Amino acid sequence: MSMMTVERLHDLLDENSEKDVLGWAGSCHDCQKETNVTASPETEGIRIEGGSVYEPENNKFILKCDDCFQKDPVLRNFQQCEVYSRVVGYLRPVNQWNDAKQAEFKDRALFDDSVS
Ligand SMILES: [Zn+2]
Repeated sequence: MSMMTVERLHDLLDENSEKDVLGWAGSCHDCQKETNVTASPETEGIRIEGGSVYEPENNKFILKCDDCFQKDPVLRNFQQCEVYSRVVGYLRPVNQWNDAKQAEFKDRALFDDSVS
């Protein structure tokens, strides 16, 4: 498990330079309560409010509300989910694809049917 580090937050802020504040919304990993976490740069570091953010794998963010974080700051029972998607005509877990196909998978966009 990996707690979000200040370096990683700075990287994310750099990647999202059009934003002044990073925000995550979702349910708390432990109690499922609606949780909104923000991270904003300040002169003396980064202020995190609303809860805590974990990144157990790259670009996969897990939230904990303040109450649950105080009870137990460790992210427990996190299980990476298996993602299946189509690759050259048959279904296979994405993490078993070869590197080139996995890179191509990251470039795929979701079909948005709201755009006509
Ligand atoms: Zn909670």
